[in-house]
Amino acid sequence: MKAKRAILWFRQDLRVHDNEALSEALKSAEEVIPVYVFDERLYHTKSSFGFDRIGSNRARFIIESIEDLRAKLADLGAELIIRVGITEDIISELAHKIKSRWVFCNRERTQDEITIQDALEQKLWSIGQEVRFSRGKMLYYTADLPFPVTHAPDSFSVFRKEVERYIPVRKPLATPDKMESFSVFIEKGDVPSLEDLGFDKSSYEHTSSLFKGGESEAIKRLNYFIWETTSIENFHAGKDEIWGDDMSSKLSAYLSIGCLSPKLVYHELRNYEAKNKVNKSTHDLVNQLLLRDFFRLMAKKHQNKIFFLSGIKGEPPLHADTDRDKFNSWATGNTGIPFIDANIRFMNQTGFMSNRGRLNVANFLIRELKINWKMGAEYFESQLVDYDPCSNWGNWNYLAGVGSETKDDKYYNIISQAKKYDPEGLFVKKWLPELSDLEACEIHHPDQIDASRMAEASLVLGKDYPKAIVDTTKWT
Ligand SMILES: Cc1cc2nc3c(=O)[nH]c(=O)nc-3n(C[C@H](O)[C@H](O)[C@H](O)COP(=O)(O)OP(=O)(O)OC[C@H]3O[C@@H](n4cnc5c(N)ncnc54)[C@H](O)[C@@H]3O)c2cc1C
Repeated sequence: MKAKRAILWFRQDLRVHDNEALSEALKSAEEVIPVYVFDERLYHTKSSFGFDRIGSNRARFIIESIEDLRAKLADLGAELIIRVGITEDIISELAHKIKSRWVFCNRERTQDEITIQDALEQKLWSIGQEVRFSRGKMLYYTADLPFPVTHAPDSFSVFRKEVERYIPVRKPLATPDKMESFSVFIEKGDVPSLEDLGFDKSSYEHTSSLFKGGESEAIKRLNYFIWETTSIENFHAGKDEIWGDDMSSKLSAYLSIGCLSPKLVYHELRNYEAKNKVNKSTHDLVNQLLLRDFFRLMAKKHQNKIFFLSGIKGEPPLHADTDRDKFNSWATGNTGIPFIDANIRFMNQTGFMSNRGRLNVANFLIRELKINWKMGAEYFESQLVDYDPCSNWGNWNYLAGVGSETKDDKYYNIISQAKKYDPEGLFVKKWLPELSDLEACEIHHPDQIDASRMAEASLVLGKDYPKAIVDTTKWT
């Protein structure tokens, strides 16, 4: 009697805890063969405005996460099969060769991922096999929501009120103790290096990621933030900080790629509240997780509209200039507005930017430079280590005024923002060392400093640091 064999295709769920696809596969099959494919299309194609779909920081994070997943699965007794190529071809060929019955995986909801899962489904159908889809990206399962996805409220506050009060968040699924090794020989495949994935050394040697990928690191960070340092206590006051290791959770990259389950974060917070007390900070962090769910739900409901210039709303944005010179000064951190440039250079080097930083640079691009917001969204996609299609495009939709909620007409006074969130100019000095001789009261608007003071600080605008591309006097 042949063993009932299943392939477990890991996607954006790179963990063994609370992994529904893994649990379902183990329940149904006698032999489970875990597979991960580095899809070459992602690494070798450009976005519509010509950026790499995935930058070196995120690629490195994925590589580290796969190394960790391989080690975690080995601890359970299973070997992770790794390939580089076209996902649906590789998995269907493997399924054919080993005569599996099913491919288990998490269902994804955005276009690129849907295209791949649909193509795989078709190929498997032609050999009499099927894809079994599972859930696990959100705090709430859509089946538990008090409305069908098509009727999900388009307002975050309505969504939050409807779910938070009435629906319990399910408990994370147990991590299996053990997996059976499989009886068929399959070449295990090596974890590729950045070079194997097509990154030239010169494209990444100047970068330095803040986070190491993998489920082990994700759990470590969660424990550190909630239990070891109780930094969670400061979340309410600190979450809007421009930087500070422990001011916000720094869990986004782990959540995006699925090294960490949002349900686990939620229940750890509830445990913390049970041992301490419910406070504004624990409440606020749950709120952020709900916001993440909301954007995912909006992507499910409105589908490809989140990627259109007219967004979910279906209305043209206020501005859609595609001036490359202006855009490039923004994307390289050379606008001459230190607060904007420091945030962008920070992201270009590390793959991360605080939420406050993202709000400011996006707003500046859209409202001051009047650039097509999709250029910014694609650039973030390329650079962010925590890139998640629903959160990224959802937030950009919102800021561009084409999201599901009413237009965010909040005008950002960049100098006020800079003075509020970087009062001493320390963040700017770190990322723009050419401005380090300026005083805190000068650093956010070097274009307004008089000539004698500029000479004293040995700073020449247009040479040492760019002249501002917009007039900053309107902000002071
Ligand atoms: C223009 C723009 C683009 C963004 N793109 C992304 C993206 O691609 N991926 C991403 O994970 N977040 C994105 N965000 C949301 C947010 O900036 C990051 O999640 C946050 O800065 C990550 O830091 P943290 O983990 O310390 O967050 P915390 O403040 O500690 O929040 C905890 C978690 O809640 C979620 N979260 C928090 N804020 C948001 C939000 N506004 N939208 C959705 N989820 C949120 C994240 O998973 C985060 O890890 C974007 C925001 C803006 C304004």
